Amino acid sequence: MGLHMSGKRGRAVTALGIEGTAHTAGVGIARRDERGRFEILANRSDMLRPATGGIHPREAAEHHASLFPGLLQGALSDGGLGAADLDVVCFSQGPGLGPCLRTAATTARAFAHAADKPLVGVNHCVAHLEVGRVMTEAVDPLLLYASGGNTQIIAYAQGRYRVFGETLDVGLGNMLDKFGIEVGMRFPAGPQIEQTALKGTKYLPLPYSVKGMDLAFSGILTAALALHRDGEKLEDVCYSLQETCFAMLCETTERAMAHTQKDEVVIGGGVVQNERLQKMVATMCIERGAQFYKPPRALLPDNGAMIAVTGALEFAASGGIDWAKSGVNQRYRTDQVEVTWRT
Ligand code: AMP
Ligand code: MG
Repeated sequence: MGLHMSGKRGRAVTALGIEGTAHTAGVGIARRDERGRFEILANRSDMLRPATGGIHPREAAEHHASLFPGLLQGALSDGGLGAADLDVVCFSQGPGLGPCLRTAATTARAFAHAADKPLVGVNHCVAHLEVGRVMTEAVDPLLLYASGGNTQIIAYAQGRYRVFGETLDVGLGNMLDKFGIEVGMRFPAGPQIEQTALKGTKYLPLPYSVKGMDLAFSGILTAALALHRDGEKLEDVCYSLQETCFAMLCETTERAMAHTQKDEVVIGGGVVQNERLQKMVATMCIERGAQFYKPPRALLPDNGAMIAVTGALEFAASGGIDWAKSGVNQRYRTDQVEVTWRT
């Protein structure tokens, strides 16, 4: 796995990262050297895929609770490490589904206590950005983050990661999953929508919902389902759904670049695995003379390595957190994070 430069000098850190905000239980290990270069030593995950319907928070938490022991053991063995080799245990502190977050946090506390290691709580959205930044050549990028529960355009400004645009209702992935499940696909529906859209030929107008710098997807869902009910071909509806939503993402990302005067884009989240979306963002970047960065695919959806990377950055800069502050925060905002590790 890769070795990449990032940021300040400081101590070497080997970090364990535990991800559990929604459907995916993940455990990763990242090592940061004294010069700020990162290496991913392990990245194991397991996504809950219900046979019917979407994700139920309690079921997802039970899934995570039963899988974390095996994922932990597997990650340590992939890295050729024992618990004693770790410097810090990091976990996804929010935002996310309460039962999932509490399961991940409890696992992290128990592991850290048994191994006598410090703890770091990590903001999940910031982790998507940081893993993209340290595992590519990007220096100060904007993150286009589109996942199941979140859709945000994030960039660093004046000591914080700030949200320059976001969904006003549901995450893009959730919307795609809801559409897919309604038309008979299984969760996660995104990949099936992508394959079906490849066969679409006719663009059917859908409500293009960019409001200022923000986005809305629920009206598009209603309209797309109506087109399907009215007998339009599923291939054409999937194609139109993608073209409309992805154009909205490109427009707001481009405007955020103009506003922040940044010329790098990194992508994160499960939805950006979509090759049509990647192509549209890459084209927009080329037209602006900007750089497009795509992290390794395993680092795009929810994963433990991104929690380990971000926790290592924070730990190297400011040490572990007080255990009393290790409670989870379902509504942990990107701009609430005190970014101690960047200047
Ligand atoms: P995440 O929450 O970041 O792990 O991402 C999960 C979401 O990504 C789910 O809503 C999936 O439907 C969606 N997704 C995964 N692959 C694709 C794809 N190829 N195209 C669109 N959405 C996708
Ligand atoms: Mg995510």
